[in-house]
Amino acid sequence: MPAVSRIDDPTHAFAHRRAVLQVLLWFTGIFGVLFAILNFRNASYGLMTLELLMAGFAFTLLPVIARTAYLQRWIVVYLVPFFSVMMYSLTTAVAAPTVFAWVLLIPILCHLLLGRCVGGGVAAFYMAIAGAIFFWKFGVDPGYGNTRSVANVALASVCIFGFSHVYEISRERAENRLREIAMTDPLTGLANRARLGDVFAAERARHDRHGARLCLLMIDLDHFKQVNDRHGHDAGDRVLRHVADRIRERLRPSDAACRLGGEEFCIFLANTGAEQGRHVADDLRHTIETSPFRHAGQDIALTTSIGIAELGCDGDTLEALFGAADRRLYDAKQSGRNRVVS
Ligand code: GH3
Ligand code: MG
Ligand code: MG
Repeated sequence: MPAVSRIDDPTHAFAHRRAVLQVLLWFTGIFGVLFAILNFRNASYGLMTLELLMAGFAFTLLPVIARTAYLQRWIVVYLVPFFSVMMYSLTTAVAAPTVFAWVLLIPILCHLLLGRCVGGGVAAFYMAIAGAIFFWKFGVDPGYGNTRSVANVALASVCIFGFSHVYEISRERAENRLREIAMTDPLTGLANRARLGDVFAAERARHDRHGARLCLLMIDLDHFKQVNDRHGHDAGDRVLRHVADRIRERLRPSDAACRLGGEEFCIFLANTGAEQGRHVADDLRHTIETSPFRHAGQDIALTTSIGIAELGCDGDTLEALFGAADRRLYDAKQSGRNRVVS
């Protein structure tokens, strides 16, 4: 039975965001206390209280963030009060124009923690508020409200926003590419077994919610070792690609095919019960039997044995389905190969 792993395990997803948030929590915890002491000496008790609350919140969240499977929710829960306190501190009388330098953190944090779309939107929102506060406070001040000072700050903000945005786009693309490579069988281009857990989880959810049927075909080439022995390993590889192409041709967009390893494949047929699955399996078996692989001027005859299992009738877990399909595949082999057992 194949071991199945979940690549998008929620505790591993967005590992970089977890690390960034943890650093942010440490910084806000420590700096929050320091700023609170300064604001106590400035008699800014409102701001001091907010900073102490944020520092307490940050330290409380640290152990939660280390473990949570709901990282994105916690990021939002933390960032909204964090940026709001930052905006409030900009409006206070003690805030000098240089305090606005902290605003440049917004696009970096937003893109790193919330991604390109949501992060870009949230960053633009808070930066616009910070800009409005700046004009409200210093717009008429000849020292800070002049065009050159404002243009410098505005251009620096736009550059940092742009760099963060472009960085996040390329990071996302690289991550998606790696994810795709990790879940694809390089020989045939089909999904590999790492993807099975995801496909099954999605289909199982549809089954639980709407009663959608799901059928699993376990396919094994007959006497494949002889193909390698007689024609060489390279020819064997090409045979595997040839079979994968036949499988791909037969499937609907909602179905999912996977190479489990060696000369074993499996197919999830969405919205399909065992009896319809048997038609598909017979069709596929017949197609493979009647499409020999042409190699070095001769035809390599191919046949397959297929075992079928259905979600619900044969169990509710991937392991149970694999167990049932595997037993039937074994029966197909025992009763002469080149056949389907359901
Ligand atoms: P059966 O009908 O009982 O399934 O016999 P079989 O020969 O197909 O099964 P067996 O398990 O004895 O042999 C499978 C062979 O598949 C052995 C191995 O050399 C070959 N194989 C496994 N992975 C690859 C691969 O990636 N490329 C090639 N060319 N051969 C592979
Ligand atoms: Mg095998
Ligand atoms: Mg075999």
